[in-house]
Amino acid sequence: MAAGSRKARHDLSTFKDSLTGSCLCGSITVTINDTELFTKPRGHLCHCANCRKVSGSVVSANLIMDEEKVDIKDRDGTLKSYEDKATNSGNPVYRYFCSVDGNPVMSKVDMLPGKAIIKMGMMPVIPTPEMESFAAHKHSWFNKPDNVLSYKILRTGELMDD
Ligand SMILES: [Zn+2]
Repeated sequence: MAAGSRKARHDLSTFKDSLTGSCLCGSITVTINDTELFTKPRGHLCHCANCRKVSGSVVSANLIMDEEKVDIKDRDGTLKSYEDKATNSGNPVYRYFCSVDGNPVMSKVDMLPGKAIIKMGMMPVIPTPEMESFAAHKHSWFNKPDNVLSYKILRTGELMDD
């Protein structure tokens, strides 16, 4: 059986207590311990240019979590961080990634002490987002999911009119 033909859909009840994902080479494993990941919309899509760069895609799927609920294992010591100073606010974003395969893992910002911004692309399933940020910068062909709040720029800032 080809790898691509493996079962693609996951039974969400498997993740009722926690959700675990790993980077491409398997060195870094991230577990989020939370019982409400799939009981309501969670997390957010970020359309900022920097998040797009590190996601390698049209949008980044992020989830802000209390650090105490996040368990990161760095088996081979490959977790590195990049201090991203090219931000709108000038406040650095510390972007963590696997230095072997380049997999984005999480971000941290001084404005959110005690929080980890998990890059959800490494997870087997991504919860339905509740909001998107930097919507003013999103691609015209990108259709957000229903009932997602659209902030023009920063999360909790001004909303889009549409
Ligand atoms: Zn890796």
